[in-house]
Amino acid sequence: MEASRRLAQGMNRRTVIAIVFAVAAIAIACGALAVHSGLLAADNTTVLHVGTRTVRPPMLAPVEGTRARNVILIVGDGMGFTQLSAGRIALRGPDGILWIQTLPSSAIVRTQSASSLVTDSAAAATAMATGVRVPNTVVSVDANGKPLRTLFEKARARGLAAGIVTTTDLTDATPAAFVAHVKSRRDRIEIADQQSASGIEVMLGGGPEHFLPVARGGRRVRTDLVESMRAAGYTIALEPAALATPKSGKLLGLFEDTKRPPLSTMTRVALETLARDPEGFVLLVENEETDSASHRHELPRLIRGMQELDEAVRIALEFAKADGRTLVVVTADHETGGMQLVETKVAGTLGVRWINGKHTAQPVPLFAWGPGASSFAGEIDNTAIHRLLVEALGLEAEPPEGRP
Ligand SMILES: [Zn+2]
Repeated sequence: MEASRRLAQGMNRRTVIAIVFAVAAIAIACGALAVHSGLLAADNTTVLHVGTRTVRPPMLAPVEGTRARNVILIVGDGMGFTQLSAGRIALRGPDGILWIQTLPSSAIVRTQSASSLVTDSAAAATAMATGVRVPNTVVSVDANGKPLRTLFEKARARGLAAGIVTTTDLTDATPAAFVAHVKSRRDRIEIADQQSASGIEVMLGGGPEHFLPVARGGRRVRTDLVESMRAAGYTIALEPAALATPKSGKLLGLFEDTKRPPLSTMTRVALETLARDPEGFVLLVENEETDSASHRHELPRLIRGMQELDEAVRIALEFAKADGRTLVVVTADHETGGMQLVETKVAGTLGVRWINGKHTAQPVPLFAWGPGASSFAGEIDNTAIHRLLVEALGLEAEPPEGRP
């Protein structure tokens, strides 16, 4: 009895110890799992695969002179420093660089609007287009609703041609701010009205519904802006296959989201069309994917967006190198998502974390090359982009507003 009780107690002690060890082991395993899955899911962290092939296009040499004939402004919507780094590391390897990073002049850009330290695309684009800080959602009008003169309007008054190219709707905030003046970015029909009436030489992007009447699948009650623009001398492309450089005249390309041409193709066609103007041109090129992907924390889509943006930069640089009088500026309107790159335990990867799904107050990068590029330096306000582009084009001697 005594012996068997001792045996049972011993068994119990051993069982208890075993159970304690088992529970501890399970707890440790669960903890590790929690950390692991937390890294991959709960914290919204995804894995960025580091590019294995180093690609380094040669840096461009700074250009003498400050007077440009043409300006190409390229905007990666939502592209902060981290989006840029993520694109570079994934596409070009840890020691590689994108075409964007071959532009030798650079600046850091503050992005706050008149209503918030966290801007939206409308206020940021208005700052770049007009040099004036406005509240979020406002498109190139002052507090009284009076139009603010845009870079495009100043350039066209001097005989330069103008164009907008975007992967999103033409009536979206960024392309709208350079051409239209409305109190709210949501007024898409009014924006389309003003864009079609602006007479700018090239418009390539999405959102045909804002230009077409209900009868043709659009959202307009009656007016058909596509037909009125055709009558005004625009060549119209409503399918990617129909997009080509017109022999003469202006160009309107409106594409459904699901079947739009690559940004680089639209950029090339826009440049070929605008380059005919002997006075020069201003061109806005925008990639929206970088913003949309960052809002939704879609890493592969972000990397594809960065690749598409960089390919458009390559096309712009090809043109600028051959032309010799073109200022190319690549920047963003704001950062989106509070993106972070963090260490992982797996070689060849980085963890990607996001703070939220909104825009942030972080400054954004700017790169420039061509005549006037060296003026972009240090930390600048986004409103300075307008002033520096106006100066580079020699438009600063415009008569003050209101005077004939
Ligand atoms: Zn956004």
